[in-house]
Amino acid sequence: MEFNRRHLIKGVLTASAAAGMPRMVAGQFLNAPRHGLPGTLQERYAKLDAILNKPVFKRELFKDPVIIESVELLHYKNSWICRVRSRDGHEGISVSNAQQMQIFYPVLVKRMAPFFVGKDARDLEDILEAVTVYESNYKAQSLAIWVPLATIEFAILDMFGKMSGRSIGLLISDKIYNPKIHVYQANGERDNSAEEVIEHLKRDLAVSHAKAIKFKLGGRMSHVEYPAGRSEKLIPMVRKTFGDEMVISADANGSYTPQQAIPIGKLMQEQKYAFFEEPVPFDWYEETKQVADALEIPIAGGEQESSMHNFRWLVANGGLSITQQDMFYFGGMVRCMRVARMAHAFGKQTIPHISSTGLGYVYMMHFVAAIPNSGPYHEFKEFNNTLPFKCPTSSLLSDESGTVKVPMGPGLGVEIDPAYIAKHEVVKG
Ligand SMILES: [Mg+2]
Repeated sequence: MEFNRRHLIKGVLTASAAAGMPRMVAGQFLNAPRHGLPGTLQERYAKLDAILNKPVFKRELFKDPVIIESVELLHYKNSWICRVRSRDGHEGISVSNAQQMQIFYPVLVKRMAPFFVGKDARDLEDILEAVTVYESNYKAQSLAIWVPLATIEFAILDMFGKMSGRSIGLLISDKIYNPKIHVYQANGERDNSAEEVIEHLKRDLAVSHAKAIKFKLGGRMSHVEYPAGRSEKLIPMVRKTFGDEMVISADANGSYTPQQAIPIGKLMQEQKYAFFEEPVPFDWYEETKQVADALEIPIAGGEQESSMHNFRWLVANGGLSITQQDMFYFGGMVRCMRVARMAHAFGKQTIPHISSTGLGYVYMMHFVAAIPNSGPYHEFKEFNNTLPFKCPTSSLLSDESGTVKVPMGPGLGVEIDPAYIAKHEVVKG
């Protein structure tokens, strides 16, 4: 793959192609039973707390200290790149979420980067915890701190990957569970008629060859749906159009109250849908559980979640069957892995959410490669079509079977054109 290539595959989602994974049938997204969590609530919390205390980063791979010399944020037009350098000359790069970083860049530059300088990067997990208290950063918990922190973490992991010849996945896991990821086709349209959504899904499937699709329900975050009745019409129409073999899911983005969501969920069950995403507003935890308890269809959520403790509640109380922590919005690989491990402990799946700018899809692929409880299909919004880079180990394209190969590293496994990086200026604090 050459520099300056322009790939644009929009609205595609992907599925883990784990060797030996049972063939997925529509409506049977999860292998494990969703209800009937084992033990008492206290026992479940104890189990999760033990998991949260286990290290994620494979520090033992690095025998000598790796002292951080600099953490720089580079900016050029709509591009935000983080560069981490160690005193002994190692370097790692990450490409941030431009949409969020244009707002939150001062947090990285002023409130985070200075804390990392002079520290041993092998203590990554301790630093991630400590920097949230530094300058009372935790008061800004959510995208304001997690996007900058993920940006730094990805650059540090890229550095460690280059030092050790390992992909990012092998810095947070003993093995690669999913060397390939299946794409599924998403339609993100609201305010279009059911018929238009169907036509656009057909058009995009012809390019992505995906074996699964997802579309939007309701009016985002409790707003009124337009056209009225669109969701009730779409649910059976999508099934009828694309047939029984298609794996179909739908995302309400917090559109409903439980009283509204439960009948919608029952309609999805009748039509053998795979999962129901964010039926109620994301921070309505008890209502999320209420919907989950009333339905058989797995409930997915977590793309807006910023709190580890809230994920702990959602797993221990059976609110979610599929966790969708965002690689940027939740603060990077280490934190996302902790959620995946909690989900895995109770037979739940993880389908990480990704941000649509920068190289979000590549970080998502490395993460999915490293988890044993990946869902069969994963979000893959679009390839970056402005960043000049090459990826020697993957085309990063969806093939005829709707599959993308995960880059093999080292580090991110994506080399950004040095001439392009040189156009950037270091953002001053
Ligand atoms: Mg969503």
